[in-house]
Amino acid sequence: MNKTIIFVGGGISGLSGGIHAQLAGYKSIVLEKDPRLGGFCTTWKRGDYIFDGMMHFLYGSKAGTYYNNFWKTLGILDQVQFKPLDSLRGIRTKDGDTFDIWKEPAKFREEMRRYCTNDQDRASVEVVIHDILTCTKDYSEHSLMPGEDTPIEPNYESSKQYFDRLFTNKKLALMATQVFGERPSLKSHLKCIAGFMSGDLLYPDGGSHNFANKVANTLRNLGGETMNNAEVMKVNIDGTKATEVVLKNGDIVKADHIVFSSDITHAYSLIPRDKYRNIKLEKVLEEADIYPSAVLINFGMKSKMLFETSYAFHRIHELHTPVKVCGQLLGMPNLRYLQSESFHPKDESILQLLAYISYDKWVSLKGNKKAYNQHKKDITNQFIEQLELIYPGFKSNIKIVDTATPLTFERYTHNAKGGFMSFAQTDKNVQFANILRDPFVGLSNVHIGSNWRGLYSGLACAAENGKVVVDRIKKMDGI
Ligand SMILES: Cc1cc2nc3c(=O)[nH]c(=O)nc-3n(C[C@H](O)[C@H](O)[C@H](O)COP(=O)(O)OP(=O)(O)OC[C@H]3O[C@@H](n4cnc5c(N)ncnc54)[C@H](O)[C@@H]3O)c2cc1C
Repeated sequence: MNKTIIFVGGGISGLSGGIHAQLAGYKSIVLEKDPRLGGFCTTWKRGDYIFDGMMHFLYGSKAGTYYNNFWKTLGILDQVQFKPLDSLRGIRTKDGDTFDIWKEPAKFREEMRRYCTNDQDRASVEVVIHDILTCTKDYSEHSLMPGEDTPIEPNYESSKQYFDRLFTNKKLALMATQVFGERPSLKSHLKCIAGFMSGDLLYPDGGSHNFANKVANTLRNLGGETMNNAEVMKVNIDGTKATEVVLKNGDIVKADHIVFSSDITHAYSLIPRDKYRNIKLEKVLEEADIYPSAVLINFGMKSKMLFETSYAFHRIHELHTPVKVCGQLLGMPNLRYLQSESFHPKDESILQLLAYISYDKWVSLKGNKKAYNQHKKDITNQFIEQLELIYPGFKSNIKIVDTATPLTFERYTHNAKGGFMSFAQTDKNVQFANILRDPFVGLSNVHIGSNWRGLYSGLACAAENGKVVVDRIKKMDGI
């Protein structure tokens, strides 16, 4: 076949799309505005430490499962080593209580039972274990994302409703809800935990950028082309078809199909408004709930910290004093602890803190470097003081601090409001799903192929969207 697909954006979705296009017989060209491929799937070096912007864990380590087959296609399994995890994630309270989702069902049962004070709660623990193990049975076909034609389930039961219904002990219900996560539906959390317990979830050693580089290698080995420092500034159109894109340096790249593997708001801004306006999409972009923006604070630690495992992912349940900046209360942070010598000097460690924060204040700081840095410092220092109370000795153990804000995320990806997970899975957003899948009205060969084509996001969904969009193009071209 003699047809070319351009992927605008060299994050995981663009690279995966390129691979699936090559496999279907198309010529693929991935255009990335930055000097490096990977988008959010990235790492950066500060002093002796390598901070990972993204990778927490990945499904697909178990042969025969959905994601195992998927990563095989992306060429990951032969090139990346996976490390097992003992705990999926845990909760830490300010009073020193701990609550973890352990890999072994028996250990997780004991974890819940520690907080049970009556027979009803002990019986409910068995219900939770039963519900997880039931999901384990049909887990192998599991994808995190519904297919193109699968309706998104509205009015689902949330983890909160589930645990409030099951447990009389309020503390247990709250900790279980927080460790599961409130959204999306309870069912999707049960599936994730089932996948973890069945051994399909591991940590890919080498982290995010290594992962993205390996996917890019596969694409190039298949004959696909990747271009760095290639920012797309304009799409040229003839009637109902886009014919080419114009890069920042003035170069023109011609194509039969153009896939935006990037943020939809930014993509839409590159389409001429006069003829190809989509009023419905504009309403979505204005009204839809976006996954909240966040600050990511990275700490290079002089020594190992007192975590139970060399890799831990914790939610802090409650701080001694809530962190408040400019009148705004910040959400409870997530912590990720990493002890792996690919990322730091021997016997040292890394701690990362992610906390949700409104984007609006940051907009007013654009261009005012002094105020921006002060704001960053203020938030960072408040969190350091709180972590010191939870982990005594933390402060004197810090060697390097690096804080990324919503403006950092926005600068690197062009993502709206510096968001890092596209649209949220809220009941309100369900009505927008179909519009997002087909946003470029009047243009038959321009598509969206990133997380922003629906309500499901994250690395695996981004990679799957690369495939989904190529499947759609194949159908259009009769392949
Ligand atoms: C702190 C953090 C933690 C995360 N944790 C997790 C997690 O635990 N699990 C999980 O699954 N996901 C997580 N994610 C989300 C995950 O990283 C993303 O969902 C995924 O990497 C998105 O991939 P993408 O290809 O859709 O988009 P992106 O990675 O945003 O890639 C888009 C690319 O397009 C490029 N681009 C934009 N405009 C243009 C243009 N005009 N011309 C050329 N190139 C352009 C950008 O530079 C970028 O490289 C996290 C993200 C962050 C930031």
